[in-house]
Formats: sequence, C-alpha cells, structure tokens
Amino acid sequence: MKELSTTAPTVSSTTKITALFAENVFTHQTARQFLADEAYKSLMASVKNGQKIDRGMANQIANGIRAWAESKGVTHYTHWFQPLTGTTAEKHDSFFTLKSDGTPIETFDGDALIQQEPDASSFPNGGLRATFEARGYTAWDPSSPAFIMDIGTGRTLCIPTIFISYTGESLDYKAPLLKALETLNHAAVDVCNYFDKNVQRVTPTLGWEQEYFVVDEGLFNARPDLMLCGRTVFGHSPAKGQQLEDHYFGSIPERVYAFMRDFEQESYKLGIPLRTRHNEVAPAQFECAPIFEECNIAVDHNTLLMDVMTRVATRHGLRVLLHEKPFAGINGSGKHNNWSLATDTGVNLLAPGKTPKTNLMFLTFFVNTIKAVHDYADLLRASIASASNDFRLGANEAPPAIISVFVGQYLAKVLNDVKERVGDKFDEQDESMLKMDIHRSIPELLQDNTDRNRTSPFAFTGNKFEFRAVGSTANCANPMTVLNTIMAETLKNFKRDVDGLIEKGEKKEIAILHTIREYIVSSEKVLFEGDGYSDEWAQEAARRGLANVKTTPLALDAMVTDKALKLFEDHKIYTHAELEARHEIELEKYIKKVQIESRLMVDLATTQIIPAAVRYQSTLINNLRGLKEVGLEASGACTRAMIEKLSRHIEEATKTVEAMVEARKKANALTDTREMAIAYCEAVKEPYFDKLRYHADKLEQLVDDREWTLPKYREILFLR
Ligand code: ADP
Ligand code: MG
Repeated sequence: MKELSTTAPTVSSTTKITALFAENVFTHQTARQFLADEAYKSLMASVKNGQKIDRGMANQIANGIRAWAESKGVTHYTHWFQPLTGTTAEKHDSFFTLKSDGTPIETFDGDALIQQEPDASSFPNGGLRATFEARGYTAWDPSSPAFIMDIGTGRTLCIPTIFISYTGESLDYKAPLLKALETLNHAAVDVCNYFDKNVQRVTPTLGWEQEYFVVDEGLFNARPDLMLCGRTVFGHSPAKGQQLEDHYFGSIPERVYAFMRDFEQESYKLGIPLRTRHNEVAPAQFECAPIFEECNIAVDHNTLLMDVMTRVATRHGLRVLLHEKPFAGINGSGKHNNWSLATDTGVNLLAPGKTPKTNLMFLTFFVNTIKAVHDYADLLRASIASASNDFRLGANEAPPAIISVFVGQYLAKVLNDVKERVGDKFDEQDESMLKMDIHRSIPELLQDNTDRNRTSPFAFTGNKFEFRAVGSTANCANPMTVLNTIMAETLKNFKRDVDGLIEKGEKKEIAILHTIREYIVSSEKVLFEGDGYSDEWAQEAARRGLANVKTTPLALDAMVTDKALKLFEDHKIYTHAELEARHEIELEKYIKKVQIESRLMVDLATTQIIPAAVRYQSTLINNLRGLKEVGLEASGACTRAMIEKLSRHIEEATKTVEAMVEARKKANALTDTREMAIAYCEAVKEPYFDKLRYHADKLEQLVDDREWTLPKYREILFLR
C-alpha cells in the first residue's frame, strides 16, 4: 500500500498556447470556414441574440460541424449536459448509419444536433418526470460552442445542451442559468439606459478560481473513504501540517507540475483560457484560474475542466480531489466565483468610471448588488449548500455561513457619504459635489484597497464581486442562477422606484441618487469589513439579525419560501413545481452523502481500525505475559497502561458505531425527505462522526505503524 505509482508521461514541450488554443472547439472562426454564409449568419444571430435556428439551417450547421469533426478523426457525437447529480453526462452515438437500402453512410442532421433523448431515468428529477412525463430530452445550446473531447474514451464531438422533461421542466443546471442570464439582461439594460442609450445587451461575466488537492493514485486506492466519499473520514493530523505555511507559492512538486502542464494543454485545446496556477495554503493543495468569460461559457468550462483534470490525473498516477474538505485539520477547497456585468458597448458595470456620469452608473450597479445580496442572502446561502461544503463553511479558513458583503474601507466611506451628506433632501449642489467626489477618489483608492479581506463570503475586489463561499465541487451554475436572478429583481425594482420619482417631477440624476441612498440605508446591515472568521462577527451578525445557517438541510429551506417561489416564478426561472423538485433533489443528495459516509465509517472502523488495534493489543498482552514469565512483572506497568488505553478507545469506538447504526435506522424510517435530511444531520452526523473519528484517530496514534492498514495523512499529503 505504500508503494507509489511510478510512470508519468512526459508532456510535449514548448508549444505556444496560441497554437493550441481552441483547437478542438467549433469556434466562430471555424464556423466561418465550415459553414455557408447563410448558415453562419443564422448561427451567429442565435449566439448573439438568441434567435431561433430553423430546421433547414440546423441541417446545414450540423453538416458543417460534422465535416469539421471528421476532419479531426471524430466518429461519434454526444449531447453533453449537466444533470443535477453534479457531474456531466454524455451518451455517445456514432455518425455511422445504414440507409434504407443498406448503404452505409455517415450522417449528422439538424434533428440530431438539436435534440436527443438520453436514457434519463436514472438522473435525479425530484419527482418531476414521474409527475409529468416519463421522459426527458436534451436540446442544443447554440450559445456554447461544440467541442471535441479526446481524453480517455476516444474522440467525441460534444454538443452542449440543456436537459428538460417533455413538458418543459428543466432537469439540469444550464436551463435555469440561461433563463437567469436573459432576465438579468433585460433588467440591467433598462437601468443602463438611464446613463447610456446605446447599451442593448448586458452579459454577466464569471471568472472562477478552482482549488483542488492532488494525491498519489496508489495511496488513494488504499483509502476507501477517498475513493467513495472524496474525503478522509479518519486520519490524525501529521506532525507537520500547514503551520509553516511553506507550501503557499512554494515550488510545485515535479509530478504535479507535469500533471498541471498536461491538463492545461488539454484545457487550452478545449478553449478554456487558464491563466494562473499555484500552490495553495495546505500541503498538496493547488489552484487554477482562467481569464473570465461570459457566464454561461465560464460555467461550461468549469465543469469541463473538472472532468479534464480528473481524467488527466490518472495518466500521471495521481488523483484529483475536488471535495471541499478532503482532510480534517488543514484548509479546505473553494471555488471563488468572480462576477461582474459587461455591456455590449464594452463597459464593465462594476468598474468605477472615469467620468461623473459613469461613476453614477457604477454606484447604481454596485449598490443594487449589495441590496440584492441583503434581500436574498438566504437564497445565496442555499445556492452553495451541500453536504461537502458544510465541512468547510465556518471552519475557520473559509467564509462563514453568514452572508455579508465586504466593500473595502474606501467604498464604505463613499456609501456613508451618500447616506449622510445627501440627507433625504437633494439639491443640484449635493448632486454635483457627490459625483465629483466619487470620481476623484475611487480609481486611486481602489488600487491599494482591493481584496485585503479574505474572510468575506462576498467581497468587492475593485471591478467585480467575488462570491467566495462557493464550494470546490459545486457547479457554478446554481449560485450564478441565483445571483443573476436576485440582481435582476433588484434592478427591476430600482427602475420602478426611480421612474416613480421622475414621474413626480424629480430630475433623473436626483431620482437615481435618492433611490441609491434608500437602498444603502435599507441594506447596510449586510456590510461587514472586519474578520469574518471571528466569533465576534458571529455575535455581531446575530445582533444585526443576519442569518447563520450552518447546515444544508436547514439552509435549503430558503429555496421554497413564498418569497423564493414568487421571485423565481416572476422571472420565469423556475415554476413552483420545479423549485420544489430541486429542493427535494438537494435534500436527497444530502441524505445519500451522509448515509454513505456513515456506512463507510462503520465499515472502516469495524473491519480495519478496531482489528488493527486489537492485533496490537494482543501483542502487548503477550508481552505482558512474557514479562511475567521472566520475572519482570514490575516493568509491565506501562504495557498494562497502554492495553487499558487501547481497550478504552476500542470500546468507545465500538459503542459509537452501534449507536450510529441505530440512529441511521431511525432516520431511514422517516418518510418526509426534509425530516430525514435533518435527522441525518442532527441525529447521525453531528453526534457520532466526530466522536467516532476521535477514538479512531487516538488509536492511530497508539497502534504500531506496521499494523495500521490505512495510509496516514503524513504519507498522503507530502507528495513528491
Ligand atoms: P487576483 O485576484 O488573483 O489578483 P484578478 O483580480 O485579476 O486576480 O482576477 C481574479 C479572478 O477574477 C480571475 O479568475 C479573473 O478571471 C476574474 N475576473 C477579473 N475580472 C473579471 C470580471 N470583470 N468579471 C468576472 N471575473 C473577473
Ligand atoms: Mg480570489
């Protein structure tokens, strides 16, 4: 179990990234080459403005895509989609078919491009398909380009799709995201037009940062908990952890470096614009981040990257751990979601402007974001809730479960100035002074003031907000759907409020400032500049009335409040049935995860940990007998003490196992999904996981290393 996997393939040397980039993507450029004018125009109109592509055109486009794919040796295609299991799904079909007279041909027509019916019965649907219709289908998303995956299972053309039931309910992460992006677009354009009539489209942008661990494949395979749960359920902290902080920005071990270069190259071919790579705080932990992209594409690229990393790691005898907390006692992994809004005129709406007019626009979108987070903090919290993220949120290296916004000292002052100086009466002088102030000092102060606070779950970092509480395994689509929807709702109300004042005869700028001021006042309690990891903040947040929901089953309640149902229905993101189904699915996922971990803990404790302890104890007992035989009874005292210690932990571990199994039986008997999830959390996990682990980890420290069958933290974490 302790031998390391050896072979790591060499990575092709110094190819320029630009030479590889998007080589396996049906980019606009490629489309230009492979499509006739008309087909190309129709595809672009669909990409840019969501225009429908008719059947005839779809046939032409499908032919062009096939010609391109075949020129790269591709024989199969698949609709690629993101079901609610959290991974990606594919069903491969070949281009090959037989005509009615038996002639073999290769074909890929518009129908096959536009729609496919995967064998979907095994994907989670929260009762939706059962209630409505037994089948689901995938439908082409032309806004995300087709690509060729050639890692692992042969070269396959992948068509990004949404996954919906025959009655139109979405069964995946992408469909609601696309709807949210559209609703945000409309709401944001309306508000932009106060400042600039030329803006016709607003697109949310996303730049994610992905943290992950890398471990040796041989050691991974010897840890059933890593294999089945993606995290270690037992394991004593090594003598050396991250206290020296020597891993961060240190040199990357050779094998990991080869792996990184390899998966980066594969990512470049797929058009994923990776930019940075570095060590993270914990040993064996790393991070990568791309250049930001349109939200929909960025989400696809993140899910694709997680898949690519996982596949490429095995080439190097390594395994990637995407879990939020693979190892107790050292930092976990997050997936920071850097988010902003871009106009079709090339303006980043969350970047402070250079003129008073653009600064007022910046302030508008900035304050609307704060208000959105304030009003719907519970929904944001729910959007990042998962069994695995529960181990990380609030565990002193990750943002807490309290949703707050960090804006930095300077902008906090600007907000305060707007609030104090303007009062609730405005005049022309206030207006111009205020605009000048913001204009003069924002750019300069932002330089040294951004991103000094790493403990906030939602931080302004100069020209974007960074949603840091997202978990490393998460599909970004869910938090992005929520964030863009709550922003759309807030902007819609903002427009209504401003228009209301204008109708009453107020000047436009004054109406905007007045509304901004109101929004600051009504949402300022969500602003927090201090240490988000501290106990004082938890107390202060409680005083302010901010929620601190620490566990997933309860955090998920926010998905189905009247407020949430109304919000998502108003914006046509989810019907009530869809939202309730999603709630159900998330609860089910939670139950299954905790159930699997609990079973595995029992299994490992019973079949590996306790037996190892008993074996060692028997050795000690023999030793004690031997000492007696040779007349050294007196010096057996230490041995006896160790035997007793072992006995105590063995006994406690055994009792805990029994009690946990009983608790599970009770939980399983519950019929309401929410109640069962709560029981798994409060009656199975909370009372027994840490307790069992405590005794197991104590035993690890007592038992002869040669008897210990599980690889230890010190062996797994210090990869060379
Ligand atoms: P760092 O935080 O490492 O100093 P940056 O602030 O430049 O670096 O970027 C951090 C992340 O934010 C990157 O993944 C980048 O793609 C993303 N990002 C930068 N600008 C935007 C934007 N306008 N919209 C969305 N994401 C962005
Ligand atoms: Mg960051």
